[in-house]
Amino acid sequence: MDGTGPTATPPVVILLGPPGAGKGTQARRLEERFGLVQLSTGDLLRAAVAAGTEAGRQAQAVMEAGGLVSDAIVLAILKDRLAEPDTGSGVILDGFPRTTAQAEALDALLAAAGQAVGAAIALEVEDEAMVARVSGRFTCASCGEGWHDTFKRPARDGVCDACGGTAFRRRADDTAETVRARLEAYHAETAPLVAFYGARGQLARVDAMGAIDDVTEALAALVAGARAA
Ligand code: AMP
Repeated sequence: MDGTGPTATPPVVILLGPPGAGKGTQARRLEERFGLVQLSTGDLLRAAVAAGTEAGRQAQAVMEAGGLVSDAIVLAILKDRLAEPDTGSGVILDGFPRTTAQAEALDALLAAAGQAVGAAIALEVEDEAMVARVSGRFTCASCGEGWHDTFKRPARDGVCDACGGTAFRRRADDTAETVRARLEAYHAETAPLVAFYGARGQLARVDAMGAIDDVTEALAALVAGARAA
């Protein structure tokens, strides 16, 4: 089976890795290439903060400090998003699950829909490089393309190569100080998920210190395998 036939269950691929590992960048590329939907709980939470919802109000201070938002809030927004029809062709989870409780809740949510996790891919990087990566990054406000003050500057300062946009955004939590708190949260709460999925034979590891394109190719091979499974 090639994974695209009517009987194939939609793939659910998890990207694990600390802040700055490239989860968002790579998820966007895999979304384009495989027609999967990128589902970032960080993006959903930032949208809730911007919209001023009750969940957003509760999450805001925790996010600004680099901590983890409560499982209850995150699971509620994830469940709502998974209920939207576009996720039916398969999803790439970027930044979720981040705790064992979230991983178990995801299993239950998928099981109820007759689905299961297809693969969990750990993006392996070094902490110190992550502080530099995260503290210089910004995105195009029009198309969402990611840029970096040092590692990936647009060809012309102030103009997005991808779409010509001239407005950019920096995340409030992308400061060196907050990144350190986020790395600590990652090691304490999220890194154990590498063993969690490893014990189930669902884990793959990718060296994510290399060139962005090389990482994409390594991930694409794994996603193609998960689709065919
Ligand atoms: P991200 O965009 O994935 O880096 O997430 C930004 C921030 O949103 C994190 O530092 C957390 O405060 C919060 N967040 C995102 N996803 C989760 C999650 N699955 N569980 C708890 N907090 C989350």
